[in-house]
Amino acid sequence: MDIILLGPPGAGKGTQAQRLVEHHGMRQLSTGDMLRAAVKAGTPVGIKAKAIMDAGELVSDEIVSELIDAELTAMGKETGAIFDGYPRTEGQAEMLDGLLAKHGRSLDHVIELEVNEDALVERITGRFSCANCGAGYHDTFKQPKVEGVCDECGSTEFKRRPDDTEETVRHRMQVYRSETAPILPGYEKRGIVTRVDGMGAIDEVTGAIDAILA
Ligand code: AMP
Repeated sequence: MDIILLGPPGAGKGTQAQRLVEHHGMRQLSTGDMLRAAVKAGTPVGIKAKAIMDAGELVSDEIVSELIDAELTAMGKETGAIFDGYPRTEGQAEMLDGLLAKHGRSLDHVIELEVNEDALVERITGRFSCANCGAGYHDTFKQPKVEGVCDECGSTEFKRRPDDTEETVRHRMQVYRSETAPILPGYEKRGIVTRVDGMGAIDEVTGAIDAILA
């Protein structure tokens, strides 16, 4: 089964994708994660993408679609894909159709996480993660049990995304409304869109998504 998780930045796509990986053995294809890895590794794609990402703008359709193509080439057809943060433009949605056909796959569901934008700004600007194992935390909602020490691995190093400032977050939301939301009507015509309330507790959202996939 292949699905798209859609929703503005901070809607919980990454968190829910990780749950789907654990519960259903699917594979998370996050273009944001792939781009951050490229930036960290200093690859040509990473060098090109860094300033664009820091400003909350979109990297080119070609670059992100090539990243997805490479992942689909590397994974087996029997493993379901969760597209997380891709497609983000009408161009990417078209490219994804081409890639799915090329790899003999098809889209089963587009799940949109619906959220309140003001609450999202608080969610995003407060988030941080363990620099060692990546475990996610939040200033208000989820501090480590012992201050300054990762619950999962004991590391004392944490990091924040450079694009998680309020100004950039508001801009990323604007980009979501103007560039990404317009891809929904096309999927609606195919009858594969389901909306889920993304403001509920993480487990409730997971339950709603599991019910769609069942
Ligand atoms: P994310 O982790 O999904 O919030 O992505 C972080 C940043 O990476 C975005 O603000 C964009 O600059 C870039 N990015 C991630 N995915 C895409 C995509 N599908 N198309 C264009 N840019 C992307």
